[in-house]
Amino acid sequence: MLSVETVTKWMELFGEQLTENKTYLSELDTAIGDGDHGNNLARGAAALKEKLGANEYEALTDLLKDVGMVFVSKIGGASGPLYGSAFISMAKASKDNDSLELADLLAAGLDGIQKRGKAEAGEKTMVDEWVPVVEAVKNNSLTTETIEEAVEKTKDMKATKGRASYLGDRSIGHLDPGAMSSSLLFKTMLEAGV
Ligand code: ADP
Ligand code: MG
Ligand code: MG
Repeated sequence: MLSVETVTKWMELFGEQLTENKTYLSELDTAIGDGDHGNNLARGAAALKEKLGANEYEALTDLLKDVGMVFVSKIGGASGPLYGSAFISMAKASKDNDSLELADLLAAGLDGIQKRGKAEAGEKTMVDEWVPVVEAVKNNSLTTETIEEAVEKTKDMKATKGRASYLGDRSIGHLDPGAMSSSLLFKTMLEAGV
């Protein structure tokens, strides 16, 4: 269920996973980018922990907005503004809407990512993780397998957006780091029972 409590739990678990997987995510980014994705996100996770610890939220909108602001200002790189846009867009969707469904919340997040980054499905970015997840949540069929399969599928894709696109065909054969970090976002969402 969407509530301040479950979303706070979700963000705590996501932050922990980002910190735990910092080296791995940066290794993935070393293969097809500049090797900083895990470090960028771990910096965001540390700032998020501080922010959540210092505030008591009453409204989901305020919580989501703060997550977005922290991500925009602390993660940096391409992924900071993209994750930031996702959460700020989710904050807007949740404003004055008590009956908001998770599928609509995530669809708003995806819309925020695409408005900022202009990537479509199949371009080997985090969008390739978000699109199937949003679809599965709509159909009430999201599982860990759906989440993991979506990341695996980025391996055979050729990057046409972001830094990995500079590699052209040489980007094929590697997992997309942003799709991997988004898979952690969705696994922790399931774990938190959002
Ligand atoms: P940078 O490439 O600036 O170093 P990061 O390494 O933190 O930033 O993030 C790289 C990830 O960002 C990629 O793996 C990809 O998933 C995602 N990304 C990059 N450009 C886009 C875009 N235009 N739309 C969606 N996601 C993108
Ligand atoms: Mg990078
Ligand atoms: Mg970078």
